[in-house]
Parts: sequence; C-alpha cells; structure tokens
Amino acid sequence: MVQKYSLLNNVYFLGGFATMGGMLFGFDISSMSGVVGTKRYQEYFGYPTSALQGGIVASMAAGSFLGALLAGPFGDKFSRKRTIMLAAIIWIIGSIIQCATVNVSMLIVGRIINGVAVGLASMIVPVYQSEIAPKNIRGRIVSLQQWAITWGILIQFFIQYGCSKLESNAAFRIPWGIQVVPGVILLAGTTVFPYSPRWLADKGRMEEALEVLANLRANGDKNDPEVVAEFREIEDAVNFDKTQAARSYAELFRKPAARRVFLGMTLQSWSQLTGMNVAMYYIVFIFQGAGITGEDANLQASSIQYVLNVLMTIPAILFIDRWGRRPILIAGSTFMALWLFLIGGLMGKYGSAQSFDGNKTTTWAITDNDAASKAVIACSYLFVCSFAISWGPVSWTYPAEIYPLRIRAKAVSLSTASNWAFNFVLAYAVPPALEHIQYRTYYIFAGFCVAMTIHIFLMFPETKGRTLEEMDELFNSDVPAWKTRSLATGKADAEGKLEEFSQQKSEL
Ligand code: BGC
Repeated sequence: MVQKYSLLNNVYFLGGFATMGGMLFGFDISSMSGVVGTKRYQEYFGYPTSALQGGIVASMAAGSFLGALLAGPFGDKFSRKRTIMLAAIIWIIGSIIQCATVNVSMLIVGRIINGVAVGLASMIVPVYQSEIAPKNIRGRIVSLQQWAITWGILIQFFIQYGCSKLESNAAFRIPWGIQVVPGVILLAGTTVFPYSPRWLADKGRMEEALEVLANLRANGDKNDPEVVAEFREIEDAVNFDKTQAARSYAELFRKPAARRVFLGMTLQSWSQLTGMNVAMYYIVFIFQGAGITGEDANLQASSIQYVLNVLMTIPAILFIDRWGRRPILIAGSTFMALWLFLIGGLMGKYGSAQSFDGNKTTTWAITDNDAASKAVIACSYLFVCSFAISWGPVSWTYPAEIYPLRIRAKAVSLSTASNWAFNFVLAYAVPPALEHIQYRTYYIFAGFCVAMTIHIFLMFPETKGRTLEEMDELFNSDVPAWKTRSLATGKADAEGKLEEFSQQKSEL
C-alpha cells in the first residue's frame, strides 16, 4: 500500500539529521582552540603547563578511541539508531560536567565522556547513513557527515571567540554548556527515526526491514521493482551469513575479511597522517612560522581556513557519486603533498631560527620576506581546501560501504578507532616536532601523502554505484584495484570481466 509522503522516509532528511552526530565531532575538535588562550581559562585552571594542557586536549581523543571501539558491538546488539541516541545522551552528560567544572580533573573527566560520545557517533552515523541510502547517492549522504564536522568546528570556534571577550568564567562555561543543544536535538530527532533496514534484516525482522525499505525508496510500495531487487539482495546476504561460522572479532583478521579491514583501518590512519589536524589544531604555529603573529591575525587565519573547510566540502557532496572514490582520494593526496612540500621548502629557504615570547613551539620563521610569507599562507589554505574536497568526506564514506553486513559494525568501529588513535598521537607529537625539526615536519606529512597516493592507486577498488551487497563480488574478484574504475562506470566489457572472474572463482 502506498503511503503519503513523510519526511521520516526521506533519506536526505534522515541522513542529514543524523549528521548532527558529526556536528558533535566538530564541536569537539575546536572545543579548546578558542578558550585556551583566554585569561579567565588560564587563571581558573592555574596556568596549566604545556604537558598538562596537552593531556587536557588529548583526553577527548582518548575517549573517542574508546567510544569508537564500543560502537561496533553496541551497534550490532542495540541497533544503529539506539547507539546514536546513546551517543547523544553521553554527550549531554559530558557537556554538563564540562560546563560545571571546578578543577582540571573534572574538566578531563568531562572531556573523556564527551570523547566517548563522539567516538560512538563518528562510527555509527556513517554506518546508519550508508545502510539507509540508495547506492547512487550513498557517497553524498555519508559525505554530509563530514560537512557537519566542518560546520561544528566553525560554529564552536566563533562561539568561543565571542565568549572570550567576556570578563567572567562564562568565557569558557558558555561554549562548553552550549554543546548540550546539538545533543538534545540529536536525541529528540533520532527517537522517531526508523531502524536501519539492514540491521532489522540482520536480526531476522524481515517484515519490518521490507517495510522500512519500501518507505525509504517508494513511499511504502513493497512491490516497487527497486524495493524488490534491493530487498532480495539483503535477504541473500543475510541467508549467506547464516551458512557462516559464528561472528567474532577474530574473523576480521582472517581471510577474506582481513584485506578489507586493513583497507578501512589504513584509510582512516592515512587521513590523519595527511597532517590536516596540524592546520585544525595548530594553525597559529603555521602562521607564526610564516611570520604572522597577534590575536587578530590568528582569528583571521583560523576563521578563513574553517570557512574554506566548510565551503570546499560542498563539491565533494555534490560529485562524490559521479567522480568516484579513487580519483578523489588520489587527486586529494597528490595536491596535499604538493602544498606541504612547498610550505616546507619555502620555510626552509626563507626562514631562520627564532624565539617567540612564551612560546616554545615556533622556533623557526620567515621574518623578512613578505612574498614567501604570503606564499606559505596561500599553500596552507590550499592544503585545507584539498583535504576538504577529498580525504575528509571519502575517509568516512569508504569504510562504511566496503564491509558485508555481518562484520560491518565491528570493522567500521576498528577503522574509526584508527582515526582516533592517530588523532591522539598527532595532537601530542606535532608541537615537539615543530619545535625540534621545524619546517621539516611538513616534509614528513608530504611524504605520507605520497605514500598514501600510491597505496590507494594499487590497493583500493572503486566502490561508487554499487549496492552494499555487491561489494563482496568486487573485493573477491581478482581485478586489480586500478581497473575497477571502469567496472563502476558500468562498461559492459568490464562488467563481463568481473562476472567472468567470479565464475572462475566459484568453479575452483
Ligand atoms: C577528520 C578530523 C579533522 C576534520 C577536519 C575529519 O575527517 O577525521 O580529524 O579534524 O576532518 O575537517
């Protein structure tokens, strides 16, 4: 029976709303940057040493690492939807603790709790999105999560900047307290959301799964050909699962799953190793290195790059399903390598050893060459743009789509945890690197970008335009990764080749 149109059956609305989870992520990333320099914060927390401050910042990423690991089993057991709700509840609790904090220990506890929420949400939201989305717009729907991350970073940065002018502890309490708002909205909204049809099927609730799928795809028409075809694929996948041994984490590290698990984990680790968070967390130091200092310059630098980050994610949302994942990743890391080599090279050639009052991180800067300074700034903006249009969105889309249902939640949880592990390590390692090896730090990240480009070219098959259930066929075929792009564009000969490969395999 065909129903009336409802927003709750609209994939764009559901996927878009769920990205409020990404918004929490973004709030988290910039929740310290604008507060830490304020007099109120420094006085209230007794002028934390740089090691303690590093610990305060990193406690969030540590919590997120834990949350991402928990999200796998939770997502399978309690559903994707309820795990998002749980993340929202934990986030609200953590934000209240942070807002009411009376000392550093309480602040760290609050940040770990908020981190757990972000870890849960950053893993489960892309999974929910990819499981409700039709194949032709799946990349776009999951990319919305990255867009929300970039909005979260921008909004929290401006809230903090505004509050930093206040002459009371409200300078830090308001920004942390306001974080409750997206948590409440996410919780309230998700309560009325449908369950993921694939999770329902996995739990044997086939009737409900068909109903949700029909609602999402065809206003409730269960006989719609698209619904029938997709439901049959899901059923086949679930039936195949029943023939397999009991699920366990060990399965993730055995053939045939191990290759995909490795791809997801390395993709998320590489995404951090691009060095993007040097720009997100430590842009001040890049600017000092280019010889630009002062509060206004800092504000200007940070806001421009946060705005660029938001804007340049839009082309990815629009075109990821047309361009494909591979070309986007390859072009993105190639350009990032270029900008990073240029930043390092310019600083090396035109900079010299310096000391900035009260700041031990920037020990090398360009002080007397205006053109070189401007070129470094331009390169750092181009770097942010290159990440925003490529690795930002695809690093979330790809892991959420490559795994079979039986291991999806656990495997995505491992890849997301890899992102947080490297996030944590780099948050700690970058300031000492900038202090001791100065501009050479950028060469290291540039080197990583070259390595990841080669890795993507050789090992990552193109996934655009395939249903989640078709991924097994793609990954189990012997078609080299660099030839899978033509498969995705639906060229008849290439399709034939994949079938041929699968047939040969099944005959063996
Ligand atoms: C990364 C974050 C980063 C953000 C910047 C995300 O994809 O995982 O670590 O801060 O993009 O927009």
